Amino acid sequence: MDYQHQRLAAGAHDRIAVRRRDDAWLEERWADPDTRVLVVSGTRVRPRDGRIPWVTAQEAPDGVRVLLGENDGRAWFALVTGPEAAQEAKDEWFPLRGVLPHLAGDGLAQAPLVFHALGLAEWLWATRYCPRCGEPLAPRAAGHELACPHGHVQFPRSDPAVIMVVTSGEPGSADERCLLGRQASWPEGRYSTLAGFCEPGETLEDAVRREVLEETGVVVGDVEYFGNQPWPLPASLMLGFIGRAVSEVINVDNDEIDDARWFTRADMKAGAEVGELVLPGGVSISRSLVEHWYGGPLPGQW
Ligand SMILES: [Zn+2]
Repeated sequence: MDYQHQRLAAGAHDRIAVRRRDDAWLEERWADPDTRVLVVSGTRVRPRDGRIPWVTAQEAPDGVRVLLGENDGRAWFALVTGPEAAQEAKDEWFPLRGVLPHLAGDGLAQAPLVFHALGLAEWLWATRYCPRCGEPLAPRAAGHELACPHGHVQFPRSDPAVIMVVTSGEPGSADERCLLGRQASWPEGRYSTLAGFCEPGETLEDAVRREVLEETGVVVGDVEYFGNQPWPLPASLMLGFIGRAVSEVINVDNDEIDDARWFTRADMKAGAEVGELVLPGGVSISRSLVEHWYGGPLPGQW
């Protein structure tokens, strides 16, 4: 099956980490007219005509040069400045969530570069003081490390989050059911896979079991890995799983989750066709998990 979430990572650039400390190479590529640069003000970019606004290095302002890598024979950088420009024109500059619509269609091929650029910009913005000693941090390694005067080094983070379909009943049978939940703030009919962050010292499988139990009261036994999706909003890595329930009684927490239900494939198809059940968007791993269990594409999306 062709999973749309994989398209967000297709054709990813070569990150050439070995060049991040090669100052001569970095200067040479920065001066190359073929090089493309994404200007980031704080954590925001300004799309132009609905597109990601790549410029030449000569057009870029001063700031922290972040080497993203090479693709299509070019070098790609982000240039991260302070937040002033974005603060002066807030309705023109968008954070990653606001840029996602600009990544649809042709722009999808640029998603890995944009996720890399804005994920690092977010980290550079949020990590300005050393968490060990409180001194200011300065970037090095072409934006991929931060160091304080005492030599404490910080590296970019990706926080693991688990996202899962939970199933019950004889696999592949008409009775087999899948557990989806919804948050109170969502529009009517919207349901999705459950998700949550992995805690320190916890395995991913135990995080799946704990989150499902906390949010819905359902006990999960076997857990199988499905796939993953970078989601730097601001720093998540979504790890998809399929869990097998060993109990079916639902008792929602009414905190994170407002309602959870078991859906058979027939329920799911009927609900999605009339719009009573609205599933997550095509490029999300959540959508892929649901369609993987269902066995094919379903209509409608957020
Ligand atoms: Zn320090």
